[in-house]
Amino acid sequence: MAGLMQDRPLSLPHVFHRAEMLFADKEIVTATASGERRSTYGECFERVRRLAAALDRLDVPAEARVGTFCSNTQTHLELYFAVPCSGRVLHTINIRLFPDQLAFVVADAQDDVVFVDRALLPALWQVADRMPSVRHIVVIDDGSNEAVPDDPRVVDYETLLAGGPPRSGRFVIDDENSAAALCYTSGTTGDPKGVLYSHRSTVLHSLTSLAADVLAIGERDRVQPVVPMFHVNAWGLPYTAVLAGANLILPGTQTAPGELLAQIERHRVTISAGVPTIWMGALPLLHEHDLSSLRMVLCGGAAVPQSLSEGWRAAIGLPITQAWGMTETSPICTVGVLRSADNELDDEERARLRATQGRPVPLFDLRLVNPETGAEQPWDGVSAGELQAAGPWIASGYLNGSGADAFTDDGWLRTGDIATVDPRGYLNLVDRTKDLVKSGGEWISSVTLENHIMGHPAVAEAAVVAKPDPRWSERPVAFVVPRDDARLTTDDVLAHLRPLVPKWWLPDEVHFVDALPKTGTGKFAKRVLRARLDAIVPEGST
Ligand code: ADP
Repeated sequence: MAGLMQDRPLSLPHVFHRAEMLFADKEIVTATASGERRSTYGECFERVRRLAAALDRLDVPAEARVGTFCSNTQTHLELYFAVPCSGRVLHTINIRLFPDQLAFVVADAQDDVVFVDRALLPALWQVADRMPSVRHIVVIDDGSNEAVPDDPRVVDYETLLAGGPPRSGRFVIDDENSAAALCYTSGTTGDPKGVLYSHRSTVLHSLTSLAADVLAIGERDRVQPVVPMFHVNAWGLPYTAVLAGANLILPGTQTAPGELLAQIERHRVTISAGVPTIWMGALPLLHEHDLSSLRMVLCGGAAVPQSLSEGWRAAIGLPITQAWGMTETSPICTVGVLRSADNELDDEERARLRATQGRPVPLFDLRLVNPETGAEQPWDGVSAGELQAAGPWIASGYLNGSGADAFTDDGWLRTGDIATVDPRGYLNLVDRTKDLVKSGGEWISSVTLENHIMGHPAVAEAAVVAKPDPRWSERPVAFVVPRDDARLTTDDVLAHLRPLVPKWWLPDEVHFVDALPKTGTGKFAKRVLRARLDAIVPEGST
């Protein structure tokens, strides 16, 4: 028997029109090199309507991909709504891609138009001749003085908006499963793959983020997405904030740790979100700012060392909240909001729980599967398996049919992460399949080793990779960045690790470096480190 409820599409136009009616006075602040731009939802949404009309005038067809090559700014937010609400697909391009990858994703997406911040124009222009699908390059004047080439494809954003009346009436998307946005995986394992979010998946992901035991974002919040708007839609925060009617504090190009903390202080930010390297960089500066407005510092994309979260708790009384997700999962799937029963645990045990990836959010299903036998693993906190994901905001495939082996026969996403889950549902990521160190037939978790090494007070950052070994097949090798001028030896690092891990986990080599290579999304670039290992001649050999 069918239920008798209205079948209305879950689509971004609802989010837009609701906010337009209810939250016109809410603030959007964008930090700029020369100060800041302050605006309201009302002013921004008028520009969204102008932009939607401008896309019509440019003859951008329905379902066409509209690329953005932009920082976290109000203009980017205008694109976030005008493009999908008018039936096109927003393709947020990673501004740190190498030219070959950039040309690849624009071609794979078949972008029709690309919008670019003037400050970022030189990076995009490097491949301007390798983007045959792109008819227009719309330059957003962000106050920078980068030269704008004299080229028939180039259009000025403000001129475009001023070129006609705004779109009136309501935006309509009939099919909630139609594509709203496109984001590419960062391509650590080959060519980047396109993940195509639907209106429905975006709305459900945003709605879940509002839930009290997820991010609890409400109208009273002031949200600062530090995670780039090209990285999984800044973890959905722009859409979530607008659904809630929260103020948005957008860091633009002002993303150095001191600048971010100054924005938090000035605008009384309540929730901020970024990858661990950002919050690690901010740690030594926390005492210089009044950060009492913060109620949540969200962190994910890579493991959050316990020492980092506890460092924040010691400095400002607020630990970091960890979340897990991927480009393919929109991304939020688990969040480290502790259970009420965990209030009874001591500080150390609670800190340990916060170093897990947290518990599954509503509507998201996970399972652990033994990669060799295919058997589902129990949630006993010990049995490790590949993490597989299912839910209404999890990808069912990639654009243009690539990467089909990432999906199981029964439609689950194979994440490539190895994890355990304890009986309370806390997910603990052991490693990524390709980063695990397989030594003598057993696994060594590079993530656990890194977290322990970063717990040493004289260590700023550490990454562990596998080195081929004739006897054990692989052995762990650590790259360590000492804090400031700290003098640190291999013996110091090993002595620190000895009480914390089994003896056979101890790295065979420790290399001290000034900095670790990072990927475009701020993670340790382990592929680069592995390649570097090949070039290193061990001490004592000639
Ligand atoms: P890429 O897969 O190219 O690195 P994503 O940004 O989609 O790009 O990364 C998703 C991966 O990041 C996950 O599969 C996982 O390995 C890692 N990750 C995300 N969040 C966490 C976390 N809280 N702890 C550990 N690893 C994480």
